[in-house]
Amino acid sequence: MPETGASSSAPLGQREAIARVRVLLPLALDQPYDYAVPADVALAPGDFVSVPLGRRERVGCVWDGAGAEEKVAADRLRNIGRKLPALPISEKLRRFVEWVARYNCASLGAVLKMVMSAPDALESERPNTGYAPVESAKPPPKFQMTSARKRVLGVLADGPPRAAADLAREAGVSASVVTGLLSAGLIRAVPMASAPAFVQPDPRLHGPELSPDQRTCADDLVKRVEAARYSVTLLDGVTGSGKTEVYLTAVAEALRRGKQVLVLVPEIALTAQWLSRFEERFGALPAQWHSDLTPTQRRHAWRAIAAGQARVVVGARSALFLPFPCLGLIVVDEEHDGSFKQEEGVIYQARDMAVVRANIEQIPIVLVSATPSLETFANVEQGRYARLHLPDRFAGAKLPEISLIDMRKDRAPRQAWLSPTLRRALIETFAAGEQALLFLNRRGFAPLTLCRHCGHRLQCPNCTAWLVDHRREGRLRCHHCGFYSGEPKVCPACAEADSFAACGPGVERLADEAQALFPTARIGVMTSDTLRGPGAASDFIARIEAREFDLVIGTQVVAKGHHFPYLTLVGVVDGDLGLAGGDLRAAERTYQLLSQVAGRAGRAAHPGRVFIQTYMPENTVMQALLSGDRARFYRAESDARKAHGMPPFGRLAAIIVSGPEENAVIAAARALARSAPDEPGVAVLGPAPAPLRRLAGQYRWRLLVKAGKDVNIQAAIRAWLPAAKPKGGVRVRVDIDPYSFL
Ligand code: ADP
Ligand code: ZN
Repeated sequence: MPETGASSSAPLGQREAIARVRVLLPLALDQPYDYAVPADVALAPGDFVSVPLGRRERVGCVWDGAGAEEKVAADRLRNIGRKLPALPISEKLRRFVEWVARYNCASLGAVLKMVMSAPDALESERPNTGYAPVESAKPPPKFQMTSARKRVLGVLADGPPRAAADLAREAGVSASVVTGLLSAGLIRAVPMASAPAFVQPDPRLHGPELSPDQRTCADDLVKRVEAARYSVTLLDGVTGSGKTEVYLTAVAEALRRGKQVLVLVPEIALTAQWLSRFEERFGALPAQWHSDLTPTQRRHAWRAIAAGQARVVVGARSALFLPFPCLGLIVVDEEHDGSFKQEEGVIYQARDMAVVRANIEQIPIVLVSATPSLETFANVEQGRYARLHLPDRFAGAKLPEISLIDMRKDRAPRQAWLSPTLRRALIETFAAGEQALLFLNRRGFAPLTLCRHCGHRLQCPNCTAWLVDHRREGRLRCHHCGFYSGEPKVCPACAEADSFAACGPGVERLADEAQALFPTARIGVMTSDTLRGPGAASDFIARIEAREFDLVIGTQVVAKGHHFPYLTLVGVVDGDLGLAGGDLRAAERTYQLLSQVAGRAGRAAHPGRVFIQTYMPENTVMQALLSGDRARFYRAESDARKAHGMPPFGRLAAIIVSGPEENAVIAAARALARSAPDEPGVAVLGPAPAPLRRLAGQYRWRLLVKAGKDVNIQAAIRAWLPAAKPKGGVRVRVDIDPYSFL
């Protein structure tokens, strides 16, 4: 009898005992399927196996959780294919998958898919084949040197041989282009050394001497790592207080104990400074996990993590689903950051799910922030999370002085966005040989283009959204669906020529204004458009550090975690921008973002100044920033949420109904509303058209489920949604704890 670990008894009435396993497939399925196991195959839960599904072979994971009983008669069971050589995933990770699926109303298989994020890592490591150019080879007759083919050769021209998938990816071509070049004899296969193992970070190396405050916090965290039990600790300290050094001390302790550590960060592309600090501290780089890895890097990292060989992993939210066999500590840096919320596929909040994983693994987790989320703040108040506090900047650096500029009085000239006060401050900063940062969370040149003749606004053909003028590229872009076009010659509505006017500023327009005011200033624009790939971000940051710019103009990508010693002035061009939408977290988010931007100023020896331009200086967010009274702001914000039963004091879930035809969408949304759960403590609001009523060609309507803290909102939704069977290509998605209300 092979050990199946899963249900192994045959149903009654069956002559010969057949071993069964349940296999969960990484597809939108809610339960594992049953398969028969040949007598000579030993399987345990967590093993990866290939199985037939319809006419295809699929790889899945042997599953053991509670679930549907066996329905398939033994004689109709299909055999599993083969067992894959990958190590099995742990029972804790399997329970985590189930938890995430249940909590987020996602299918089990869709969550498993996030674990199987490097599918070819499940196979045994093959000798690697790379491709290199063939010196002075002539293309065969009739061979077309297309631009795709040229790009592949260009990539190979400056660098080592690459694996086919990496080569195709780097050149931005499909794999067939590489094959084509191979058969034309222009490139050749060469054996490649397999990637080196990850070097172990050395916990015996000494970090910097900690300040007394840092020491107290670090000692506490070290004790928690020693205790090896579940606990959640908020490490709360102003920007520049030295939180990173504190939690690295806890990382060192976990390493000493032979454990793995996961550090989640919001914007992995921007962690160059973090990585070099880590390397300095531990003598080796951690493994990285993010969407910019090549397939080879992904496979390599996944395997090394599953084998326990990669000890510290720093990654974006998807790193949460990696197969750590011996996790000892999780750190979530900038825990308040909105990018921990995944909005596509399985919708989940990685910070919240990290706490769940820590609970299942029975290990400590540290949430790090200068401006904690209201959720975390409430958990501290209610005694569920511990809090450690670093009240001052490290080494006596002063927090910047914050001033509000009332734009109703201190007006910028027409078609300009910098007030006289901010202009003066810039002049003073440049005169002192220091750097300034202007923050404007708007990419491109102008957010809106309209026809002066008829008032027509240029809109995305696929979305309910204006097209954004990206003048440096010569394009109009939709920031929602990726649509772009050149600027039309005439107005599409009234056919008037040369009638377009740009309305409002984006970073490009601001850069033009600043350049006109300060012709000799060296200005750099930093946005996700100007930074392509992780290398670009670290290059740009290095150039700021090297003082190659006097003025940096940027969106929120500059706000995060960087340390620029010569930056002494921060100007927030439109402090009100984030408040405009007015959703649940608008005030909180604006407060966090502006605090963080402000925190870029004066982090070293030179004191910093921050000016926030606003049309509503009396607003509570502006007043909180001005006074530095964070506690008061949090209390006011908490009270308001409490009064309305809003998160974190009540539960919310959004139901998003979408489809290509609006009538079908509306019908489905109304049908859902009619069959809404009739339970005490649950209210269903809507349906209403989403603010982004059309997105990438899909019409969207929303319902909002609001429930008390004591209500199991997921159970109510699970009992409700399957009853509605939408037709006409209509999709229904559930967003538990929504962050986006668009
Ligand atoms: P935070 O993460 O709280 O914003 P950091 O950890 O980035 O703060 O620390 C701010 C600056 O102070 C960094 O340049 C860091 O290298 C330095 N620093 C922090 N703690 C120490 C220490 N104990 N010894 C020396 N330098 C430190
Ligand atoms: Zn669009």
